[in-house]
Amino acid sequence: MLSYDYCCITDDTQEYNDSKCLCGAESCKSLYFSLAADHYDAIMKSSHTTRNRFAMLARACEHYAVKSYVLSRRDAIGLASVGFGEKLFSNSPVWLKCYCAQVIEFIKHERTVLPQHLRSKDRSTEADGVYGLRLQNLAITVDRVLSFLYKLPDQTVPPLYPHTDEEVAQKLVFGNSSIWSKFKDFVAARKRLLLKTGLQGTLESIFKRCEKKRPLIEAARDVLRSTAAALRTASSTYYPVAAVLEVQPFSLSIASPRFL
Ligand SMILES: [Zn+2]
Repeated sequence: MLSYDYCCITDDTQEYNDSKCLCGAESCKSLYFSLAADHYDAIMKSSHTTRNRFAMLARACEHYAVKSYVLSRRDAIGLASVGFGEKLFSNSPVWLKCYCAQVIEFIKHERTVLPQHLRSKDRSTEADGVYGLRLQNLAITVDRVLSFLYKLPDQTVPPLYPHTDEEVAQKLVFGNSSIWSKFKDFVAARKRLLLKTGLQGTLESIFKRCEKKRPLIEAARDVLRSTAAALRTASSTYYPVAAVLEVQPFSLSIASPRFL
């Protein structure tokens, strides 16, 4: 028999429906569990999007790239503050701990702002319930990730790694399957159309110039910039394509998933 709201939360509808409370109290909400409804995810949806999570993972893996990297004091304190210790992380690579520390920072942030989004009488206790659930789920996830990593030949290799400038240049322009080589195929297939706009000649001279260049990042940037300029001069129809080519994300290296 229950006579106290333990603010237990589940995201399993079946478990929620089965959790009939028999306490008989006047204020009983009749079900032991609360369903993790949409408002529980309000902060997660706005501040912990796929992009945020990917950024966290990239940051964790970037730290790993520095050979002398050990878990920062801030991350170590963060993990310890919620009881995530060596028993959970036995033989865990540093990047996973670093990632978890960042997720924990988010979970703590969510705990402080979530009550504003809740409607119950005891919002603070309810937010505590969400906080506990998040940490529990994170611990379970760490365990799952580790059991996956143990099967790999080298468990310490991070899932993402930053490309060198040379690799970026290859992927963008100089490699066989680069964006640039696809663009060249596209242009070759539309020769007649491009002849009309005068673009054909300009592009071919860029292609020729490109062949003589060494596969360096500066050369890749230059090729994309001159192509964008040529497209803009030819027609306003090409503005969107030109805008894509003019984006300069090359100082940020492209990271490739290594597990795929
Ligand atoms: Zn009850």
